[in-house]
Amino acid sequence: MRPSARRHEVTAESPMAIPMHSDDFKAEVSTWAIALGVTPTEICLAPMRRKWGSCSTRGRVTFSLDLLLQPDQVRREAIVHELIHLRVPNHGPLFRALLAATLRSTSSPQEG
Ligand SMILES: [Zn+2]
Repeated sequence: MRPSARRHEVTAESPMAIPMHSDDFKAEVSTWAIALGVTPTEICLAPMRRKWGSCSTRGRVTFSLDLLLQPDQVRREAIVHELIHLRVPNHGPLFRALLAATLRSTSSPQEG
């Protein structure tokens, strides 16, 4: 009777492939919403093929489930992008200025 000779099959073969919990993601979105002074009526996660998120005219933001597997920076950009749409519904100069300013203010000065 040997103690388990076989160890767990979980090895380093699946790096970074652990999705974050959807509740944690939504909490992150809520935190950003407060920081940006917007109030999404609903935060949704859904499968999406071509983009990270979308925003409805009623204030509902929907994000791709794939974002749960993305690094912090990608996730942050997608979240901030959609939330800014609650204030600016297009990709005009104001939108881009807000997006750039928000992302710049949250990254460390050493970055980029
Ligand atoms: Zn957009």
